[in-house]
Amino acid sequence: MKILVVGCGISGTTLARVAAERGHTVTVIDRKDHVAGNCFDYFDENGIDVHQYGTHIFHTDEKAAWDFVSRFTQWYPYQHEVLALIDGQYVPIPFNLNSIQALFPSTIATRLEEKLLSHFGFNVKVPILQLRQTGDGDLQFLADYIYEKVFLHYTLKQWGMKPEDLDPAVTGRVPVYISRDNRYFQNRYQGIPLAGYTAMIEKMLDHEAITVKLNTPYEHSMKTDFDQVFYSGPIDEYFDYCEGELPYRSLRFEFLTFDRPYFQRNSVINYPCNYDFTRIGEYKYFLDTPAEKTVVSYEYPQAFVNGENERYYPVPSTANQALYARYCEMAERDDKVVFMGRLGDYCYYDMDKAVKRGLYLANTF
Ligand code: UDP
Repeated sequence: MKILVVGCGISGTTLARVAAERGHTVTVIDRKDHVAGNCFDYFDENGIDVHQYGTHIFHTDEKAAWDFVSRFTQWYPYQHEVLALIDGQYVPIPFNLNSIQALFPSTIATRLEEKLLSHFGFNVKVPILQLRQTGDGDLQFLADYIYEKVFLHYTLKQWGMKPEDLDPAVTGRVPVYISRDNRYFQNRYQGIPLAGYTAMIEKMLDHEAITVKLNTPYEHSMKTDFDQVFYSGPIDEYFDYCEGELPYRSLRFEFLTFDRPYFQRNSVINYPCNYDFTRIGEYKYFLDTPAEKTVVSYEYPQAFVNGENERYYPVPSTANQALYARYCEMAERDDKVVFMGRLGDYCYYDMDKAVKRGLYLANTF
């Protein structure tokens, strides 16, 4: 078949590669001037791998997704950890037993640890919204503390909403972890592509049956030239916003270079309660690049405004899912197009889930 893939991010690229290997002829278009979508990175003059759209860490338990992307890159076995500035201390996030020890006097810390262990057990992850519902006085104190110091103000900055007004899965991504494991992710597979994400995506696209056209926005008239379209752009835009715009959150990054080996003590530091940015990422940590300078980004969340900035996050809430469902009904009546990716599926995919969806769809035709 002749296939058109709209969007050259990790979703569209996965599908394009598998389709090409199955003998289909694939054209991939993207309106941006680079491949890799929001995974795009580049090595700067210091040799530092800068992620242009913010820090990206590939992590997964999906062996099929890991095996697939591993055909196109080697990995730096990076294990991500995050610190947050809370009450003057830099403590591990997800909030865990070590965070408790760092923040509370030892008698209180011990009591809270014992309560957590007897109520939930060891090595258990508890979403903050669930921790607020135990009915136990000590745990209520702890839950209120974590809610206020870790989640409330960060989430207000990031989403413009309180945690309880968002789909619980959003704050559930960073559950309180009854453990001394300081890592952000416990997945079996985790790493940073040794040559960067862009090189990995370029290798995926490097196939004789794939043609890539950048600076090329999708137009409906293109459909007639293809048997099937896989569309990883915004589903509401595809239907000319006839049901209204799906809301997104956007980000603004302020990149700074410092003439010294390190800026901060960790790759990512969150500032839930201070400043207007949510976090600072320092890029040399991801590949442990030994440069004399260092590059960081301050991450400022903002509303998405069509034509002014980029879509980064769908906003998972009941009302938005209902609007998305109306677009899905329209999509079902158009048998030439299949939607995919964060923007096509209006879904807060991590990179591995985007790959998984691409692999799945490539098996459906
Ligand atoms: N979150 C928070 N405080 C933190 C870290 C995360 O409130 O210190 C919440 C916030 O709502 C955030 C969500 O948890 O949007 C998911 O965080 P994650 O780090 O997974 O977001 P991403 O890296 O995808 O932006």
